[in-house]
Amino acid sequence: MPPRTDKFPTEGLEGAPSKDIGWHFGDPVPNSRGNVVCKLWGKVTKGGITRFKEHIAHKTGEVAPCPNVTGIVRESMMKLLKEAKEKKMDKKRRTNEFLSQLRGEDDDEFIDDVSAMRQATRESIQSQHEWHRREEFRRSTGGWGNIYEE
Ligand SMILES: [Zn+2]
Repeated sequence: MPPRTDKFPTEGLEGAPSKDIGWHFGDPVPNSRGNVVCKLWGKVTKGGITRFKEHIAHKTGEVAPCPNVTGIVRESMMKLLKEAKEKKMDKKRRTNEFLSQLRGEDDDEFIDDVSAMRQATRESIQSQHEWHRREEFRRSTGGWGNIYEE
């Protein structure tokens, strides 16, 4: 049985494939893509170090929870995963804001063009319309005028 740990590491493990904190609890399986063998449990999870950390954190849904992880490690890992997710979402939100700002400027220019065009069209329609109305008015008043004259 591998030793249980009540301490949660704060830095990456020396010699690990990456700085990821998850490597304190798992070893990469050689010649596999994203398989990690759990140091606490001795079994392999698939899907890379992030999925493995979900195994440690008991994040439900994607992976079987680690039966041998201690509470403090599980909670710390869960917190890390949440923070990482929030950071990612924050970055995505900022990127979206930035993009919509860029798009917004383009839109404004586009809208200006379109509304200028619409304005011109509206004016020409209006003046045509006005002309028609004046014609009709003249004819109808002429008509009325004729009635009055009679
Ligand atoms: Zn495990």
